[in-house]
Amino acid sequence: MKKLACASAFVLLAVAGLFLPVSSRSLEGRIQPQAPRFDLLIKGGHVIDPANGINAVMDVAVSGAKIAQVAANIDPAQALRVADATGLHVVPGIIDIHAHVFFGTEKDAYLSNGDTAVQPDTHSFRSGQTTLVDVGGAGWRNFGQFKEQVIDRARTRVLSFINIVGAGMKGGPVEQNLADMDARLTAMRIRQHPGVIVGIKVAHYGGAEWDPVTRAVAAGRETSVPVMVDFGNHTPPLSLEALLLEHLRPGDILTHTYAHVNGRTPIVDDAGRVRPYVFEARKRGIIFDAGHGGGSFLFRQAVPALKQGFVPDVISTDLHTGSMNSGMKDILNTMSKFLNLGMTLQDVIKANTSKAADVIKRPDLGRLSVGGEADIAVLNLRRGKFGFIDTAGGRLLGDQKLECELTVKGGQVVWDLNGISRPLWSEMPEPARGK
Ligand SMILES: [Zn+2]
Repeated sequence: MKKLACASAFVLLAVAGLFLPVSSRSLEGRIQPQAPRFDLLIKGGHVIDPANGINAVMDVAVSGAKIAQVAANIDPAQALRVADATGLHVVPGIIDIHAHVFFGTEKDAYLSNGDTAVQPDTHSFRSGQTTLVDVGGAGWRNFGQFKEQVIDRARTRVLSFINIVGAGMKGGPVEQNLADMDARLTAMRIRQHPGVIVGIKVAHYGGAEWDPVTRAVAAGRETSVPVMVDFGNHTPPLSLEALLLEHLRPGDILTHTYAHVNGRTPIVDDAGRVRPYVFEARKRGIIFDAGHGGGSFLFRQAVPALKQGFVPDVISTDLHTGSMNSGMKDILNTMSKFLNLGMTLQDVIKANTSKAADVIKRPDLGRLSVGGEADIAVLNLRRGKFGFIDTAGGRLLGDQKLECELTVKGGQVVWDLNGISRPLWSEMPEPARGK
């Protein structure tokens, strides 16, 4: 308790502009106050940082936009602001590799400048997310608009899997137009925005041809980025086995792993067994993304799959207005489902931090490395009686649920549920008032 009192007293002084002195002697022998080394210290939390092999109670110090130190017992007097994370989990900022944030007001534009997509900052920070990857909202034709309208204006880091369809994910006939799926022009656009366009999306095509997949893979080969496939709807159905074992490359992604929808073979067969070729695909490096969404996550698929050891590589939301108010809700609710299905907290955190960053080839993200961007989430793993709903409306009972206490993006506190980084109001200095 003493430490906490000290920390809050310190915050008070810091707010008042009177740096708590870590005294030192100047050359003249006078006592001089020394500026704190850190802008923010997250103290006493259980740090899970899979990329750096950390799974222990540690403090995390931030200077400016960067991680300055991760160590046990960092002196709170060295920090301008201290957040008490005792009993909480401190993890890298969460990455959602399947979201829809190309929000706009165009009529009948679905997830490409339409109002079925959502504004990124309204969903990200409250769930510990610092990076959202829009998958397929924009194609090569309208990526510029997406960048100007969303990516450049959001505080959330927004990245993109560009749609192989030039016009993007506008729904209906636009997404069925093979003539608008151009590998060369897609690759050109990716080269113009390295590190921001981090992949290519294939989705919703209903024809009997493999062209959307082969063209996306061709563009991916040219630019060294992965392809994500939302598979299904084909008439007649195309082979999931051929997709996973022949068409996709190691590092490419199948999303909606636990779906059972028309026109796509589910990964668990009628006898409840994960199909052998799905395990084989994992061995050859295919990435399996949960991609919950509004119609693509069934406990009838996920429960037997996880019992047989088929856990997702990454756990994404497929965030849009159709999924957020039904079973999916948000990324922490989705991650909590997998905790209650038997994954460890460490594995769930790894899936949406370092693993997700590696999948999108942004290894600068998803870890708490000293000198790296200070993107941090502080999570509360609540114990109690909870219920979780799948996309068929079925309920799973559970006893664990993740909640976000604090989110830091580039060193800035962008979400603080209970004010753990703030001083008590009564300890705040009176604001100066004009006459
Ligand atoms: Zn989607």
